[in-house]
Amino acid sequence: DKERITAAIARAERKTSGEIRVHVDQSDGEDPVRRAEEVFADLGIDRTKARNGVLFYLAVSQRQFVILGDEGINQKVPEGFWTGIRDAVLTRFKAGLFVEGLTEGINLAGEALAAYFPYQRDDTDELSNEVSIS
Ligand code: CA
Ligand code: CA
Repeated sequence: DKERITAAIARAERKTSGEIRVHVDQSDGEDPVRRAEEVFADLGIDRTKARNGVLFYLAVSQRQFVILGDEGINQKVPEGFWTGIRDAVLTRFKAGLFVEGLTEGINLAGEALAAYFPYQRDDTDELSNEVSIS
């Protein structure tokens, strides 16, 4: 399953210079949005050149899903940019389809980000495509 998600990220990043990371959090208790912000910083998502990293954060036990984009994205995209993507992912999650939900969200994010951050020929993989788990 991790490989399928990693492959989806690699595919999406061939369309956009944006960097997508997925983090699965198995701990519980803390506010998911705050945890997502901590993970965002811990993974260095705020350190890409164009500030166009995005985190898909899944808190398993709380069944919470958060998408956090860096400031380069937030400055360019319209409000509610992530809402449709988030809803599509959550619809799959509710049906118990976690990998499908994440890969669909990654695909949609890649397509959406491509309009604002097209793929550059000299692109480097600034953030690992591996799923991180804590
Ligand atoms: Ca890249
Ligand atoms: Ca990457």
